[in-house]
Amino acid sequence: MSELASQKNEPCRLIASIGGEPDHLVSALSLVDPRTDWIEVRLDQVPKDAVQSLIAAPSLPIVATCRRKQDGGQFEGDEIERGSRLEAASRAGAAWIDLEWGSDLARHLQRFSPARIILSWHDFNGTPPDLGARFQAMRAASGISLFKVVPTARRLHDLVAIRDLLRETDDLIAFAMGETGVASRVLAPVWGSRAIYAAGAEQATAPGQVSVGALLDQYRFRSLSPRTRMSGLLGRPLGHSLSPRLHNEAYATLSLDWVYVPFESESVEDLRDFMIALEISGVSVTLPHKEQVLSELDEMEPLVRDLGAANTIVRSGGRLRGHNTDAEAALAPLRKRIPLQDKKVVLLGAGGAARAFAFMLPREGCTVTVYNRTEERAKALACQAGIAWGRWNDLAADPYDLLIQTTPVGMHPRVEEMPVPREWLRGSLIYDIIYNPAETALLRAARSRGIETLDGVEMFVGQAAAQFELFTGVNAPRETMNRVMRTV
Ligand code: NAP
Repeated sequence: MSELASQKNEPCRLIASIGGEPDHLVSALSLVDPRTDWIEVRLDQVPKDAVQSLIAAPSLPIVATCRRKQDGGQFEGDEIERGSRLEAASRAGAAWIDLEWGSDLARHLQRFSPARIILSWHDFNGTPPDLGARFQAMRAASGISLFKVVPTARRLHDLVAIRDLLRETDDLIAFAMGETGVASRVLAPVWGSRAIYAAGAEQATAPGQVSVGALLDQYRFRSLSPRTRMSGLLGRPLGHSLSPRLHNEAYATLSLDWVYVPFESESVEDLRDFMIALEISGVSVTLPHKEQVLSELDEMEPLVRDLGAANTIVRSGGRLRGHNTDAEAALAPLRKRIPLQDKKVVLLGAGGAARAFAFMLPREGCTVTVYNRTEERAKALACQAGIAWGRWNDLAADPYDLLIQTTPVGMHPRVEEMPVPREWLRGSLIYDIIYNPAETALLRAARSRGIETLDGVEMFVGQAAAQFELFTGVNAPRETMNRVMRTV
């Protein structure tokens, strides 16, 4: 059997990547998650004499690399020194030596025997349009066991280019760096990459790297396969979003072969082709794309048209349908607390989240007045939704039953801030839609004045649960989702 044939159907290997000074590497090696398959040891800062003890120590197979500054590494010596470090690694038992395509070292492979060779190519600036042709040129090299292609994703289409490359061959590790590339690191087993690199220590060794723990525990890396259905979150930035954790735990609770990944993107212009080409079943949409995505949709529920915003897109074959689960999720917790008919409501803020309240509350029989830091925006929303607006300082004396706070003031990390002074709080209920933290300074102040409070967790879980149901057609495990949100 040829080497290539024997590679077919092999699982995607999880490689923990560690780098740094020798002392740091020794402690990092001892901390590598034992569920890792291989360890990549970066020898950039390791003198030749220290290589033997480092490489020989771990029981897992080692991939040895020594990256020059020009290749994104720390190594500053010459090619003689670099080659001798990698030879020493092979002699010490490294299973693999990673060499850069086009480098002098990659022309003399026998010297690194018995280790096998990974021939790699990185682009730290972007994904070139001729990625496929470059890979074909790379494949002309002989004596290579594995190829590795790692561009940087700048837009969603770059993820399609990675998947297309992986479809062609079985001896390739391919994924993209950068925040947009994060999805390709999680989806490596779905698309057939032979391996993926994850952060083996506290510090990532490449931009966008996900930790070993997150891949295994949050994304259920070991159970992902080409059969796994894909969903995710579209927006920017997404680094601190709780949605991947929430949706993936919900999938795990019901043992659904689904995964939810961040699709960080600056624009939505290639969203349609992206979702269709990669067969993404559905996406949640967050800031700043909730309005712009409307132009990408084939159909939308009437509420999306009314609100001018979609937070959910479901793909059916080649068609995209937009939904808005924010509005119902925003109101449902309120309805459970108080009868809304004839209530006088103050809305703080006039952004995306305020829109849902501004349009929906009058339908529930409420009289709504919006107050916003930027008066023009309050006026514009009031005009569109047919509600009243007020000058910020006039709120001090405005009587109301219910105040709904939709600004980010008080959100992590500035948790001590309040959008309005304590003395302005009155009425029977203060609803702060911030969910991180659940208990904001505003809600504490309201309670100290004997006013009932409602936090943003139920709303967040409500909109996510409705998305889950639109994606999968299965009832969402709301208790699990509540628990996740209350324990972060
Ligand atoms: P957005 O579209 O950016 O709107 C933010 C609003 O807050 C604007 O009206 C803005 O006023 C105002 N604002 C911002 N900083 C302020 C400050 N320092 N003082 C006074 N007003 C300020 O954001 P969004 O999507 O509506 O989200 C707002 C908040 O709601 C976030 O904290 C988000 O986490 C939360 N949220 C929660 C849920 C949930 O499910 N619980 C869902 C969506 C949003 P200007 O017009 O003057 O800029």
